[in-house]
Amino acid sequence: MSVSSIHYLSKIFQPVTVISKTASISRKDVTSKSQRLMLELGIIRQSSPGFFHFLPLGIKSLNKLKKIVNQEMNNVGGQNVLCPSLINCNLWKTSGRLENAGPELFQLKDRHRHSYVLSPTHEEAISDLISSVSPLSYKQFPLRLYQISSKYRDEIKPRFGLMRGREFVMKDMYTFDTDIESAKQTYDLLCESYNNIFKKVGVDFIKVLGTTGNIGGSVSHEFHFKAEIGEDKVLFCHNCNYSGNLDLCNNEKCPVCGEEKQIDISNCIEVGHTFLLGDKYSKPLKATFLSKDNKPVALQMGCFGLGLSRILAASVEVLSLEQEIRWPDVLAPYNVVIIPPKMGSKEEQDTKHVAEILYTRLESAIPHLTDNVLVDDRLSLTIGRRHLDARRVGYRYVIVINKKASESVPLFELNDIKTNGQLYLSENE
Ligand code: ATP
Ligand code: MG
Ligand code: MG
Ligand code: MG
Repeated sequence: MSVSSIHYLSKIFQPVTVISKTASISRKDVTSKSQRLMLELGIIRQSSPGFFHFLPLGIKSLNKLKKIVNQEMNNVGGQNVLCPSLINCNLWKTSGRLENAGPELFQLKDRHRHSYVLSPTHEEAISDLISSVSPLSYKQFPLRLYQISSKYRDEIKPRFGLMRGREFVMKDMYTFDTDIESAKQTYDLLCESYNNIFKKVGVDFIKVLGTTGNIGGSVSHEFHFKAEIGEDKVLFCHNCNYSGNLDLCNNEKCPVCGEEKQIDISNCIEVGHTFLLGDKYSKPLKATFLSKDNKPVALQMGCFGLGLSRILAASVEVLSLEQEIRWPDVLAPYNVVIIPPKMGSKEEQDTKHVAEILYTRLESAIPHLTDNVLVDDRLSLTIGRRHLDARRVGYRYVIVINKKASESVPLFELNDIKTNGQLYLSENE
């Protein structure tokens, strides 16, 4: 490996956002811990309310989440597509959603005065895609198409940073089956795949009965992270083990057994949502297949949304300390940071290039660490100061090169910021 491929902290574009009365972002604009930490530590930057730039560290983390999601979608036979963001309004008229959409729907006209929606979700667009090639033979199903793209919603209260943006990154899968039984099997398979994704992310989650909102359908589940700041409420009944979004309940009573006392209600952040749609979109938009007796029949659909940008922020929200980010290990922008001695110190003289050698060795010994190790080359700063910075950004393992690294058997101080553990590693380990 050449030294030029080493990731140096000083080269990372990580502009910090100052939050103060006089700055463009004031305290009242900052409504969650994750939003504050991600702005202050240069992970994201606000463009206007509800719209954010992902900075290099933020993108690195987002890409890790995308990788996990892509793998899981491939495991369930998903094929990746990318639909346009601007969708002809007529499709939304046909599905009947335009008239109820309300001000959350961004709409615009082109130079010919044709109307488009800036898509908040893609049921119409994907049904129209299938319709345009319909009828396909029944042999071509099940069909599972998914995309990872920006979605647009003119939220009445964009807040909490990435958790409620007006533009956000969603993974949405749309499934097509030839009968309701197969559609249900697909639905269960996808719910299982969501379990796998959240287990890999490693943040505690719950799956509960969900509301169908304006997307519709007959069955729906929501995936949530429990958090004080969550805008949804979830009811759990200790009597019959029912759990569901509180919007499904009357007077807060358990909607299954009517229990009023042995129930828990928790604030939650909705991170994923699955819907068994049936033919709600396929029928009006004519997404059909050719049955064995050669008749066009409406397909049975499911749709499966995951808020990727929300999952990032919600993970940070749930795991972080007040002043220090904690990432799920699999989503941290980097896992290891190496801190060489301060410039001009005796240790610096005695340990020239040790950081680079260690970096190269770590990456070659542990393939997982490729592109996940960083050298904090801000040598004018003390080790202590850089150590604090590493804790704040949440780099899990901090390796300090101090005077033990220049002894006859060099030792490196390894700190685990999650457990506060510390040990010395020798070069051979
Ligand atoms: P909410 O109840 O929070 O408004 P929703 O039920 O309207 O969300 P869905 O239509 O189910 O959202 O979209 C699928 C997923 O997209 C959600 O589970 C969530 O993770 C994510 N999501 C929805 N709205 C936003 C938003 N404004 N910003 C970031 N992520 C969002
Ligand atoms: Mg919503
Ligand atoms: Mg919701
Ligand atoms: Mg939802």
